[in-house]
Amino acid sequence: MASDRVAVPSRTESPGWVEVVLRVLGTGLLGLWWSRPSAMRYRRRRRSECAGCAHRYHRVMRVLIVLVWLQMVGIVALLAYGARPPTCQPPSLSSYNGATRYVTPTHDWVIPVRQVITAGNSGLALAYGKALGGQFCDYVPNGTLLGRMKDGFARGGTTYGHTYLTSLEPQLVYSDMAPVMRHESRHTDQWALFTLLGGPVAFPLAYGVDDVFAPGPYNNFERDAGLADGGYVLPDTPSPTTTRLIVAGALFAIFFFERHRVRRQVRLAKLLVHRLRIAEPPWWYAHTEPVTPGPAIGVVRRVSPAVADAMTEHRRLQQLGCPDCGAIGY
Ligand SMILES: [Zn+2]
Ligand SMILES: [Zn+2]
Repeated sequence: MASDRVAVPSRTESPGWVEVVLRVLGTGLLGLWWSRPSAMRYRRRRRSECAGCAHRYHRVMRVLIVLVWLQMVGIVALLAYGARPPTCQPPSLSSYNGATRYVTPTHDWVIPVRQVITAGNSGLALAYGKALGGQFCDYVPNGTLLGRMKDGFARGGTTYGHTYLTSLEPQLVYSDMAPVMRHESRHTDQWALFTLLGGPVAFPLAYGVDDVFAPGPYNNFERDAGLADGGYVLPDTPSPTTTRLIVAGALFAIFFFERHRVRRQVRLAKLLVHRLRIAEPPWWYAHTEPVTPGPAIGVVRRVSPAVADAMTEHRRLQQLGCPDCGAIGY
């Protein structure tokens, strides 16, 4: 609509360092890349020239604020509930050797580093587990915050950052616990790496996308964590990855090929929605001819005159060209 083309006077903008902090905490090293002085200058210029760019900037900042705020909640939860958790105790059936190893910490610099990087998400999972009545302890061989609960976790257990949510029973002895923890510990490494590279939603996003194309035991993050340790069994059927990639590629190709028409139809749909909200004749009545409703619209009118009107308006709107075509502009 007309107002979209008029540059809005810029709202009071927060200083640059606030944007940098939000980007880095919200999107990791990617945010650092986006905070290059040249990139900051480029976006500031775009915002002053184009209203759409200014709106988009404010939307991005709002999303980042929510993201960073949630991470803060997680860190506070972690400090409040998880700063000094009791050490996980071996089950009573343990051998002497197993019981000793169960409570022996591993000294590896990776453990504290990944605990710090994943603090936000680990804390959110801790708060979630606590809310569902989970019991938490520190599994010291790999620094995992182990939460035992009745339900509310996926599969045998789920790792969020360095928090592992699993069932109350059975309590595994060290030799059974070790492979599970090796697997979940790899997931913590993956969380830490992706959080560092792309912020707190990067890992779940990457895992989810991978799972769409390579589900379950084919998932590359599960393969990296170790299928046998994680209790996955590779089925005999072929992997669906190739088929799914072909379908996704074809859909993308169609969308890309038709992107101009898609964009035009989205614009026209917005105009239609706007038209339905206002009473007076819209500006584009001056550029279009009235349409005679055909038999299909006549049938619809018997059921819902409002829908029939909207369909008629939609037909009329299609007469509008778009600036990209060099046809009747608007
Ligand atoms: Zn896994
Ligand atoms: Zn066009």
